[in-house]
Amino acid sequence: MRGLQCPKSLYLNKYHRELRDELDVSQEAVFHTGKMVGELACGLFPGGVNASPPDPFHYQESVQLTRKLITEGTEVIYEAAFQYNQVLAVVDILVRAGDRWKAFEVKSSTSVKEPFLWDVALQYHVVSGYDIELDDFYIAHINNQYVRQGELDLQQLFSLISVITQAQELQPQVEEKILESKAVLAGSEIPEIDIGPYCSDPYDCDFKGHCWSHIPDDSIFTVARLGKKKKFELYDSGTIRIEDIPETFPLNSTSKSHVDCHIHNRSIIEKDRIYSFVKSISYPLYFLDFETISSAIPPFDNTRPYQAIPYQYSLHIKSSPQSDLDHTGFLADAGTDPRLSLIESLISDTSGSGDILAYNSSFEATRIKELAEQFPEYKTDLMALSSRLKDLMLPFQKRYYYTPEMRGSYSIKAVLPALVPDMRYDDLEVSDGIQAMDVYRKLEGEKDPQRVAEIRDALWEYCKLDTLAMVLILEKLESI
Ligand code: SF4
Repeated sequence: MRGLQCPKSLYLNKYHRELRDELDVSQEAVFHTGKMVGELACGLFPGGVNASPPDPFHYQESVQLTRKLITEGTEVIYEAAFQYNQVLAVVDILVRAGDRWKAFEVKSSTSVKEPFLWDVALQYHVVSGYDIELDDFYIAHINNQYVRQGELDLQQLFSLISVITQAQELQPQVEEKILESKAVLAGSEIPEIDIGPYCSDPYDCDFKGHCWSHIPDDSIFTVARLGKKKKFELYDSGTIRIEDIPETFPLNSTSKSHVDCHIHNRSIIEKDRIYSFVKSISYPLYFLDFETISSAIPPFDNTRPYQAIPYQYSLHIKSSPQSDLDHTGFLADAGTDPRLSLIESLISDTSGSGDILAYNSSFEATRIKELAEQFPEYKTDLMALSSRLKDLMLPFQKRYYYTPEMRGSYSIKAVLPALVPDMRYDDLEVSDGIQAMDVYRKLEGEKDPQRVAEIRDALWEYCKLDTLAMVLILEKLESI
């Protein structure tokens, strides 16, 4: 799969693993999810024998064990390993069907994606080198329409899609790709391949730190609303810095404005529009931010796979432009269904009139709508609350206010330091939403009460900073 994306990545991964980027929290979460979903999928065919090796350096043991299990008449094999023509392939689940077999490749995504077909096609190629016949080959992926009620229903959680026809059709190309990959690995030099769109398609390559080290922070790759194709058109013609983009190069108005602001160190401050925005906001004001968890496996009744479930909110309250700031919030106990307590707390904390400001309010609006559907007894209150939502992101998204420090972005993490340079997230123990989700999950297994208290404080501080940032951003807009 690596070789398909980029031969250089295949070579580096085999001979220069020291150049690989370190995994970040979100990539670790993706691996963790994949492992968890893989283990769960074995429950679709219970009672099988696991042929995994003790470690990745002993796959030959797996290959031998798989052969032995097949010969002995085992009905279901997990992690069945095959080797043919110097290619090793591991089938997630292999199930006997009379004198033939059904194979399953488990994916934690919610649909069949093109790279999966190549993955299956390679496995099909290797298994076909054996004297066993495949009746069918399926991709088992997560069904995001499944709504949990009580015990997990694995038959509903997974969708099984037959892809054997596509795998068979890809066989001639698979053979070609294997030869190409072997030639790459037999080379004595790192393949000379420059960066390209494939560095993040279909996956983010983990050698970007190495290959992209010559790209500066303010490069053409940061230009707002400039498509990948155009970025590489510029790069391939030798342009890397924004200031070197030829004047004749066609740019849309947003990209052009970003480039102009960068080159001339110019800000955009549309006072009339900012004034109208500020005037449209009604005090008392509530600054709201949700933190959510999402999991491939729905954790509670009435939840779907990958549904974003709010477990925390921060709320700053300001009665008038001159009044002092109040703060409240909610943080559920890890491992419990947070929704009902959160709903009751939120309705109580925001009772009365006044606008509720969120940054990218469609996220909060969608969560509230989902809560209203799942807990219809609170629907009226929740929808009333939702109708008071206003989006503080709007002046930045519409570029009423833009400074070169925002580097083409209107996310709160880019806007805050540009408007309020003293405020930063970097010093916090939890400094972004993904990390917050990760530590909240880990809280469930944490036994040390002092550590639990520290983690909860860190979560509280992080979420509080998000709403405080909104307060300061609005103050800045009001001052203009
Ligand atoms: S970063 Fe890009 S060029 Fe470098 S190995 Fe990965 S895909 Fe290939």
